[in-house]
Amino acid sequence: MTGRVYKSTGSWYTVKTPLGQTYQCRIKGKFRLQGIKSTNPIAVGDFVDFELDTKSDEETGVINHIHDRHNYIVRKSVNLSKQTHIIASNIDVVFLLVTIDNPPTFTSFIDRFLVTAEAYAIKTVILFNKIDVYDEATLDEVRYLAHVYRTIGYECIGISAQTGKNLEQVKDLMRGKVSMFTGHSGVGKSTLVNAIEPDLDLKTKAISSQHMQGQHTTTFAEMFDLSFDAKIIDTPGIKGFGVVDMEKEEVGDYFPEFFALKQECKFNNCLHVEEPKCAVKEALENDEVAASRYRSYLQILNGEEEHYRTDVWDK
Ligand code: GDP
Ligand code: ZN
Repeated sequence: MTGRVYKSTGSWYTVKTPLGQTYQCRIKGKFRLQGIKSTNPIAVGDFVDFELDTKSDEETGVINHIHDRHNYIVRKSVNLSKQTHIIASNIDVVFLLVTIDNPPTFTSFIDRFLVTAEAYAIKTVILFNKIDVYDEATLDEVRYLAHVYRTIGYECIGISAQTGKNLEQVKDLMRGKVSMFTGHSGVGKSTLVNAIEPDLDLKTKAISSQHMQGQHTTTFAEMFDLSFDAKIIDTPGIKGFGVVDMEKEEVGDYFPEFFALKQECKFNNCLHVEEPKCAVKEALENDEVAASRYRSYLQILNGEEEHYRTDVWDK
């Protein structure tokens, strides 16, 4: 039988078949997975094959195969420096919630997030939330940012989780897909999920990391079916979204507008910093590349902690 992992508690996995039957499954033997050294062999979102456990009266099974993942996100293990934990896999779209005020979301944060998502091959949609409370000047800022990000290929929607404004558009993008919601604490993630699916109330309380602060919580992701043919993955207590170690030369590849220009740079290994005849810098001077994007790029490039690592943390 084939199914999808909805929940994992370490040794047991909740697997749901396309017909909607749910089985508690264990793993048989050891899995070697696509060269990823992870603390967990199977993650929420994985498609797996399993056999029913004939010796048991319960609806249990044994997983014997994992299908290739389209993508996945990881969290660096707290105790073992080199070990990673796969939070979730096969994510169709991540909605990045952004607010201009209360809390402010800076472009450096947005861009770091986008670089990480690009590196993980995860589609991002930017939701500018709380547009119900913004004055004209703040709305102008939203319009400007939406323009910047639309120009480089990211879908942007101004929404209000509070009033329901434009939430149908969000639901349309979620239909038939697996979604995740992310953004700083306080941007309205739990309000949004509750507005989209009120009945999920209890389960998604944990979507807001705010509720989890100061508590000892397990950090297991869980997938939920919504009422309109959509699935969401909730990651209670998990603040980070991916860690990417990349080479200096790679960083520009995750800025889609830089990547598109790279062919036109004089040097094929151009870092778009000091080099002559750099197409990215020319575009920057002509206002075809946003100054804020270039600034974010330099920040990542000059990252001091560990080389060229982006690590996106909730505030
Ligand atoms: P989370 O930490 O991202 O889950 O954020 P919450 O959903 O807990 O929201 C944080 C605060 O922002 C709460 O007081 C919400 O009522 C408020 N909030 C969320 N969405 C909106 C919105 O669209 N408009 C307004 N005015 N307030 C909102
Ligand atoms: Zn260049």
